Amino acid sequence: MGNLEVTDGNGCKTSNKPLIAVSACLLGQSVRYDGKDKYSAVIAETLNEYCRLIPVCPEVEIGLGVPREKIQLTQVDGHIKVLKTDNLKIDVAQPLADFAVNFVKEHALSGLVLQDKSPSCGIENTVLFSLSGEQIGLGSGIFASTIMELFPRLVVVRASQLQNQKDIDSFINRLHHPR
Ligand code: SF4
Repeated sequence: MGNLEVTDGNGCKTSNKPLIAVSACLLGQSVRYDGKDKYSAVIAETLNEYCRLIPVCPEVEIGLGVPREKIQLTQVDGHIKVLKTDNLKIDVAQPLADFAVNFVKEHALSGLVLQDKSPSCGIENTVLFSLSGEQIGLGSGIFASTIMELFPRLVVVRASQLQNQKDIDSFINRLHHPR
């Protein structure tokens, strides 16, 4: 008996395709703090030919609206918090971390593609602030860092690492040959 091939609404073959979570703004959803998106054709169209893509916006999922006040990575007494810029007493780091764990447990993911420089989704290139507002370094967003720490077998990349077909090929290769 041959392979059973499932097709989606567009007639694309979906059997055996890895499931990849993608920052929803990269797929054209208007979920950023300013109500805009960060659409990436390479991800939404090219990567979509090889993988099943599932959008996720951690900030919307924890109840922050659109549009919303910005949040930022902030170092306080040696700990990384995620504070609202209009109210530094509100820390959403724990809700973001809890959502990350639950999200991964609910989906049979092979990897994630996450938007750069976000206090939720960024990977090592999100600005870290002091409580007084100075930029004191770079870190990872809490959604991203929680997943990379607790689920190290997942292939997690920045959107900026998927710019062209060669990058897509490299990513697909990593999915099929995990370290
Ligand atoms: S939290 Fe992530 S998915 Fe949501 S708007 Fe920010 S970068 Fe995009």
